[in-house]
Amino acid sequence: MADSIPTLRAWYGGTFDPIHYGHLRAVEALAKEAKLTQVTMLPNNVPPHRLQPGASSAQRREMVELAIAGHPLFRLDARELQRPTPSWTSETMAQLRQEAGPDAPLAFIIGQDSLLTLRTWHRYEDLLACCHLLVCRRPGYPVEMKTEEDRRWLSARLAAHADELHRQPAGKIYLADTPLYPISATDIRARLAQRQPCDDLLPPVVLDYIHRHGLYRSPPDAR
Ligand code: ATP
Repeated sequence: MADSIPTLRAWYGGTFDPIHYGHLRAVEALAKEAKLTQVTMLPNNVPPHRLQPGASSAQRREMVELAIAGHPLFRLDARELQRPTPSWTSETMAQLRQEAGPDAPLAFIIGQDSLLTLRTWHRYEDLLACCHLLVCRRPGYPVEMKTEEDRRWLSARLAAHADELHRQPAGKIYLADTPLYPISATDIRARLAQRQPCDDLLPPVVLDYIHRHGLYRSPPDAR
């Protein structure tokens, strides 16, 4: 039904260290394709035992705020950064499901690389019980999941069309036909450490913030 189409709300989790055009442009294209009117950026808290981001939580949050300022599609939810402990995506989406009620269609956005490892995520079946998954293409990663069992698991959950995700609350996986953006935060950090230009890779306001705050000036293994 056409009048029930623009109801799907989506969240986009990531370290955003820093946020770049591979995030922003892929999601803008996804929003057009899947008729999303609202995407909420959900920056991650990085667990203490993992390699820490080059920027602090506050700085990663500020860079997201700068990147999305004045863009009506995007919002920011800093709940994971405000918790002292790391959060599992399945728990955050369960909380968002409680807030939205049982019938609202909700989705979590990931890139193809994240889809390939999804079945190693903490309680990934619970995640899918809370929301759909919208998957953006990403260059450099296989298009197929690794094992036959993974492929069967995926095909049982695939949505043939994004409209299906607007009509039910959770449980579907949609592989979007978004353009390929060969950009990663890892590459941007390495380029910045080598004083190479990054102008085509992230918004000028974010690059300006990075330079003003002296971020990513040393290679990751020197931190
Ligand atoms: P890093 O290089 O530090 O691992 P990243 O560039 O992969 O970072 P993240 O913040 O870890 O960025 O990613 C958040 C989400 O964005 C993930 O689901 C990831 O798959 C997706 N993503 C990141 N870059 C791209 C891209 N170029 N195209 C499509 N999806 C992307």
